[in-house]
This record gives sequence, structure tokens and C-alpha cells, in this order.
Amino acid sequence: MAKEPDLAQKVINLCSRRGLIVQSSEIYGGYAGFFDFVGYGAQLKRNVETLWWKRFVEHRLDVTGLEGSIITHPTVWQASGHAESFNDPLVECEKCHERYRADSLIEEQTGESVDGLSITSLEELLTKHKVACPKCKGSLAFKSPFNLMFKTKVGAKDTAASDAFLRPETAQVIFTNFKTALTASRGKLPFGIAQIGKSFRNEIAPRNFVFRSREFTQMELEYFIHPQKLNDCPQLTKQMLAQELLLVTQDEREKGSPGKIMTLEAALTAKLIGTRWHAYWLAECFNFLYDLGIKPGKLRARKHGQTELSHYSSETWDIEYDFPWGWKELAGLANRTDFDLKQHAAHSGADLSVFDEELKAKVVPYCFEPSFGSERLIFTLLLDAFGEGAAAASGEGSTIVLHLKHGVAPLDIAILPLMKRNGLDEKAMQVFEALKKEFRAEYDASGSVGKRYARYDEVGVPYCVTIDYDTLKDHTVTMRDRETTKQVRLPAKKLADTIRQLFAGTLKFDDAGEPVTRVEKAPE
Ligand code: ATP
Repeated sequence: MAKEPDLAQKVINLCSRRGLIVQSSEIYGGYAGFFDFVGYGAQLKRNVETLWWKRFVEHRLDVTGLEGSIITHPTVWQASGHAESFNDPLVECEKCHERYRADSLIEEQTGESVDGLSITSLEELLTKHKVACPKCKGSLAFKSPFNLMFKTKVGAKDTAASDAFLRPETAQVIFTNFKTALTASRGKLPFGIAQIGKSFRNEIAPRNFVFRSREFTQMELEYFIHPQKLNDCPQLTKQMLAQELLLVTQDEREKGSPGKIMTLEAALTAKLIGTRWHAYWLAECFNFLYDLGIKPGKLRARKHGQTELSHYSSETWDIEYDFPWGWKELAGLANRTDFDLKQHAAHSGADLSVFDEELKAKVVPYCFEPSFGSERLIFTLLLDAFGEGAAAASGEGSTIVLHLKHGVAPLDIAILPLMKRNGLDEKAMQVFEALKKEFRAEYDASGSVGKRYARYDEVGVPYCVTIDYDTLKDHTVTMRDRETTKQVRLPAKKLADTIRQLFAGTLKFDDAGEPVTRVEKAPE
């Protein structure tokens, strides 16, 4: 099944060597399904989440933010259906009693993609392919489906009434705050509530590094729409309608077809996409991913089949990435209908409707949910940006380059004095001080310049600036481009403006200064 097993391993090795993402509690041998983001990794995560927040909250007039609690009233999970239905299929070995997630095990042993299949279909596949216990080859039996919610206790009493759960999705805290946010948005539909926060799922088989972990961060938006206006979407521009996406249905996938490239308009006409608001949010999600720099050819949208749909959804599209282990969900986009608001209204007694002035009646809004996992997205960005070779060709050491976009990359620029003496370090520190307020900058004086370039290439820093003896004489610096390893010489005082223009795309690197042909080398 693994198409590029090396790539994933190379990225994991880089993360571990540079400490970007490591297993939690490593000094105790690690803890499966939990991870820590360290140093540049922490900055990378913050950058991705900030870009999401800016786009989906700050830059919109119709979305408000939320920071909800992780533990909620336990009835929330009765109302949402998670207590009953948030389950994965479980099999147990009849000989050694080891337990496995049935669908993952079947995929592993058969190479077939089984996303969305019912328990009955999984049972058939298990028998057909004689899937056995990987440990002892014993035969496997289906158990009751396994609920993924982590249980905890709240308060000093150890009774059933003190049972509580860590949230398995951030969405429910959004629904329980619907009324407050509605007032904040002056009672007008459509409007959205967005949240970035931790979610917890007791995954049976955490795997593929941070792709599937037990604690992860969700960036979720619940966007509420008048139930009779699901096709009334002025935000869906002509440009969006003409946008082409690779779309695949469950049927096509089962027949081994990768899907069809279609415009959103054609997909709406063919009723493949059910509503214009769904098409709009699909376009928004894809455009967010393109803007992060993900290669368009590696993305597609897959429509859930009937048996795969979650209990709350009438239509769901997974935005899939072509991972080294196959096409898999990177983000989800569900039409959650009015299920959650109605359920919470019924269980709490609160009125979660909106008054419609035209109809002179109360309506319960429908809800579209674009949902991203930030760790899964970061892993995707790292896989997508991983490259080898450019720096090696110029004799600068390490062969690894992360082709991350500025804004996503942990740093914008690194300031490197040729040596840590003779005033070079002070001059470099002055340059750093001048740039740090506007750009994510770092000062680094350790090791040869070539080695430092390689170190910054590895974590995707777009530009390095070197301060040398000429800088002390004429106040010019050398700027190096990660993508080409080319260098130009320019006045230090022009740096901020130059970086600004390079990032805005209004200046080409070759035009940023005088070309430099030699590589500055400090004594080792
Ligand atoms: P999957 O089918 O991969 O288990 P899901 O359909 O259960 O995912 P959603 O409930 O739609 O996932 O969650 C929205 C997003 O949260 C996913 O697209 C993914 O990016 C992220 N996510 C979900 N589960 C995990 C996990 N165990 N580890 C890391 N990220 C996750």
C-alpha cells in the first residue's frame, strides 16, 4: 500500500533530528498517539493556525471566534450522539486477545481502501481475505464497536455522576454557545462560529506519525444558514464556479477510478454537490490549502457514500491528499443539517432557533462544517514541501530543503554574521533588531556560513542574510535565496523593503540586488 514509504520516514527523521515534532514523553520511551511540537515545530504550528484564523475569522465579517472548554457537561455527548455512535469497528484475536481497528487491519493486509464500508462489508472482507491476527495468526472476531471518547472524572466523588469526557471534536462547544454568538452577531443569518482547540480520540490504532493521534488540534468552523437558503449563496463567485477540482464519489473509488476533474458549476448542475453553500465552502477550503502552498495535483474531494455518512450529516466531502500511504482525508466538509442545534434544544430546553422576519416564524439553521486538523495539515505541508539536492549541488552540506511558503515557514529570515568577532556580531545583531518587529527573524553565529545555510534550508527559511567585513565598510549585506541558493548584495537599510516586496511577489530575487558569485566561507 505504501507508495513512497521513504518520504514519510525522511520527514519523520527530519522532525526528530531537528526536534520539530517528537513523541510525547520521549525520555520515558514515548507514549503512543501523543506528540510534542518543539522549537521551530511550535512556531510552524502557530503559523498554520494563525493563517487559518486570519482567513476564516479575522478577514470575514460573518464569522466570530470562540475559545471553549475541553470538558463539557456530559449531557452534551448524549445530545450530540457521540456517546452512542462515535465508534470504530473493533476486532479481537481469539487466541492472544490482541485488539485491532478492523478497517485499518483489512487495509494493511489486503492493500484495499475500505474507508466508508459498513460493518457487514468489513466482516465479508475479513472472511474473504482470511485476515488474521498480525501477532499470532489467530482468527479474529468482531467485538462491540469501540467508543473513541476518553472518559475522566470531575470532582472528588467517584460516582457515575462524576463521569465526564474529553471532547472528541471542538464543534459541540460551538453549538452549545450558539445563542450567545447569535446575539453577538446581532441575530442575522448566515453567520459562523470558529474555534481552534484540542480534541481527544482514543484511537485504537494511532498511526502515520501525527496523521492519526489521540490528542490533536482542530480548526473548525460551524457556519449557520437559513434552512431554506442553502442555495442562496452570493459569496459563490463566478471565479469559484469556474474553479476545477478533482472530484471522486464512493462508487468511482471502489471501481479504482481516481475521479473526474470538474468545475464547481458542472458538479452543481450534475447534483454531485448538493447545495451552492457546500460548493462555496469546498472552494474556500481548497483555496486555503493552495495559499498554504500545497500542490494542487495532490488534492481531491471525495464524497461520502451513504453508509459512511456520520449520524448528523446529509452530505460530506473529504478533502483528500495523496499521502505516501494513499489518498486519505486531510480535512472534512459536512452539511450537519439542523441535527446538532435540534438535539441540544431538545436535551437542554434552550431555544436554539432564529426568528425569520420575512416568514414571521422561528427557524432552526442548517450548518456547514469545514474542519481541519492542524497536526495532520502540518504533516501534509512537510511531506508536500520536502525536497533534497539543491544545497548539495552548491557545496553547502545538507541535502534537505523544505520548500515551505513564507508565513508557513517557522522563520522569514536568518541573520548570520560571517564570524562572531571584529564587530560582525554587533552589526548582525543591529540588523536583527531592525527586522525582528516586522519579520520572524533569528540571529545565528554558530558554525560555518555554508552549514548555517543548510540548517535553515532544512526548516524551510526562505532567506538568509550574511554580514561580512564589507558590511562594516559599505553597509551592504549578502542575501541568499533558499529556492535557488543564489545570492545578491544589497544595502542593509533596504532589507525590510526588499523582503516585503519579495513576499508580496512584486520583486524577483534576481532583481533584489547585485548578483554575488562567490560563497563566503568562514574559517572552520
Ligand atoms: P478519519 O476518517 O481520518 O478518522 P474523521 O473523519 O474521523 O477522520 P473528522 O471527525 O472529520 O475526522 O475530523 C476533522 C479533521 O480532524 C480531520 O479531517 C483531520 O484533519 C482531523 N483529525 C481527526 N481525527 C484525527 C486524529 N486522530 N489525529 C489527527 N487528526 C485528526
